[in-house]
Amino acid sequence: MRKKIKISLKDFNSFGVDVTSTDFNIANSEHEIVKFLKKINFKTPIVLGGGTNMLFKKNIDKSILKIKIKGIEILNETNEFIEISVGAGEVWNNLVDWCVEKNYGGFENLSFIPGNVGSAPIQNIGAYGVELKDTFISCRAISTDNWFLKDF
Ligand SMILES: Cc1cc2nc3c(=O)[nH]c(=O)nc-3n(C[C@H](O)[C@H](O)[C@H](O)COP(=O)(O)OP(=O)(O)OC[C@H]3O[C@@H](n4cnc5c(N)ncnc54)[C@H](O)[C@@H]3O)c2cc1C
Repeated sequence: MRKKIKISLKDFNSFGVDVTSTDFNIANSEHEIVKFLKKINFKTPIVLGGGTNMLFKKNIDKSILKIKIKGIEILNETNEFIEISVGAGEVWNNLVDWCVEKNYGGFENLSFIPGNVGSAPIQNIGAYGVELKDTFISCRAISTDNWFLKDF
């Protein structure tokens, strides 16, 4: 976990808007997310992925949490089916490239969609007649209703 005092968000949004944050934090693991939420007394932060769908209009005082959880893990594989678990901080297009290289079908129409894996289920990314929901199984996330970590 890293905290910076008054940093520019220019490099954290694709518009390159040069606003500042006074409470910018990075989480590299689920554990760091929980630790951060405890630190801010479970107030809902602004969650930031790749910042490609965010337009900052002014300096941000609210806590920002950038998710950088990495990793791609194969959970199950048969002749016809593969189930993978991917960290929210992976770049979406890197995941598509990884699947295409290994000849795993399903995501190829979603190549070049900017952003991170963690944001993909938030808006159900889609392109060329394919949507994430077509291959999506579940998302491990923290509920802002009760702050429990569970699979949705
Ligand atoms: C040029 C361009 C082309 C695009 N083309 C497409 C397209 O073809 N299809 C399509 O579907 N979209 C498209 N988009 C939209 C964009 O790619 C998606 O919205 C993408 O999912 C945003 O990812 P991000 O990581 O940058 O999200 P951010 O901009 O960082 O965040 C977007 C939202 O998701 C939330 N969020 C981010 N990460 C998490 C997380 N880990 N947990 C909970 N909430 C989170 C944020 O709080 C915010 O509300 C395009 C955007 C651009 C700029």
